Amino acid sequence: MPVNPVNPLSKNGRRRASGASAAGELPAHAATVVVGGGLAGLELATALAENGARDVLLLESGPGDDLVHIHRSLPQDRATEAVFAPENDPWFHRPWESDSAHYTGISGLRRRLGGRSLYWHGVVLPLEDWALSAPWWPSDVVADLTKSWRGGPSLYESVGDDLRKWSSPAPGSPERAGAFGGHDFRPLPRACRYLSDGRWEAYTPLARWPRADEVPRPPVGVRVRCDTEVLGVHVRDGAARGVLVRDSGGARALVTADAVVLSAGTVESTRLAVQALSGHGALPEPRLGGLADHIVQGFVVRLPARATAAGRVPGPGSYYVPADPVSRSYLRLDVRETEPGELLLDVRVTGEQLPNVDSAVECVPATELPWRTRIRAALLPQDHELVAAQREMLRGFWRRLAEELELPFTPMEFTAYGDPSRDNTQVLPSRTRSQAVGVPETWTSLLGTEDHEGGSLPLGQVLTSRQEFTDLPGLYAAGPVVFPRLGAANPSLTTLALSRRLAAILAGAE
Ligand SMILES: Cc1cc2nc3c(=O)[nH]c(=O)nc-3n(C[C@H](O)[C@H](O)[C@H](O)COP(=O)(O)OP(=O)(O)OC[C@H]3O[C@@H](n4cnc5c(N)ncnc54)[C@H](O)[C@@H]3O)c2cc1C
Repeated sequence: MPVNPVNPLSKNGRRRASGASAAGELPAHAATVVVGGGLAGLELATALAENGARDVLLLESGPGDDLVHIHRSLPQDRATEAVFAPENDPWFHRPWESDSAHYTGISGLRRRLGGRSLYWHGVVLPLEDWALSAPWWPSDVVADLTKSWRGGPSLYESVGDDLRKWSSPAPGSPERAGAFGGHDFRPLPRACRYLSDGRWEAYTPLARWPRADEVPRPPVGVRVRCDTEVLGVHVRDGAARGVLVRDSGGARALVTADAVVLSAGTVESTRLAVQALSGHGALPEPRLGGLADHIVQGFVVRLPARATAAGRVPGPGSYYVPADPVSRSYLRLDVRETEPGELLLDVRVTGEQLPNVDSAVECVPATELPWRTRIRAALLPQDHELVAAQREMLRGFWRRLAEELELPFTPMEFTAYGDPSRDNTQVLPSRTRSQAVGVPETWTSLLGTEDHEGGSLPLGQVLTSRQEFTDLPGLYAAGPVVFPRLGAANPSLTTLALSRRLAAILAGAE
């Protein structure tokens, strides 16, 4: 099994395979330019090829040297540290500033071909009916996702089926869970493959690419150019006509295109959109609102061996309770064996931050591209209510759990929402190992650090339901950035489904 295969797609000479680059020279024109080779862009390019498109150019600002998921290339503790201590990750990059503690710390891009598809945990949940209901999501998109797409199964059904076929069950993974702490838990669906040495990887669209010497190569019809940053969208005569790029040596070039798709992660795609729309006179100010992430809080508790021995705790694995329209938060339970006979419970609630105009990506116009980008994070009163309700949910769960397991009850304390000293790095193995047994340690994620950020180029508002900019024909977007509202579910099942839908649209298949 190859680890860290060298991929000759990269122009960057550091770890490039000998021989010519598979990408060749930068073409002057492509039918479709895909900006960003992460989860959304790779799924789009791959599905475009599967739909018969033959002139797709994918531009990725990072290298293409290492195409392996971090939980496959690194042992568990080191992979977790790479995520939570990003100074250990050579690919971490945050091209924005923030006006608060939100969207700082571990919030950022993982700048390499594969993007965050080589980091994610593979949790695949459909968006809840209450989140997809009118007036937020366009009804034709909802029908394609949930009812039927192109006369066949819905996108959620077909993408979910493909991911299930690709995945393998975790060793000893639960078929079902059952009641615990007053809740009826289900096994958490994950698109992951587990290896015999205990490591695992989550789905990446690179898994669908043909392999040569065990290295994924672009499918026929797709050219990939790594180490190539898109600085701006080229607009002429009221339409997007291409992109301006800069290579790692600083050389700039124009690539013309019939269609350009922004899939550079939510903030970068929004920065590119703000520049293009401002230059085109379609934005009163150089900013776009609606930026949202999930509101996530939780606690970790080490169980004493006697509680574990009583057999009332579900076996190691991941479980969840779906979000209802009132709580707009789902409850997740991860049970991990830390020492033989000793269990750690990692309990979290993931809830929806509602979109609002004050939560925004703002740019500073300049003659040079790229424009400086700043995140302004703002919560609505309903979001603060959700924070308080989540804390009650967690307290109630801990109370029930302590009763069931006959543990002494320790009250659960939280600090102010947005406190960087109690963020999700509390769940790092190095911290939980030294935690007192039976005492819950609470934490609250900063916005942006869940990596579920989206919503600033919403379908049905900034974009048509065919994912094209209303004010800029020829320009499209993909990824969680297009979600009109997030719901509570993790975004990637919907991201993959919408990338496949957009590929069919661009390939003229629908
Ligand atoms: C540790 C972790 C765990 C996660 N777990 C889950 C989970 O279990 N379930 C779930 O649903 N989601 C999960 N996510 C979130 C999920 O990974 C993201 O929502 C998803 O990757 C976003 O896809 P994207 O294509 O929009 O962005 P990315 O995957 O970040 O891809 C963007 C790509 O664009 C490139 N790029 C950026 N700017 C430019 C530019 N100017 N020019 C050219 N290229 C550019 C970047 O280098 C990157 O490769 C997790 C994320 C992390 C980090």
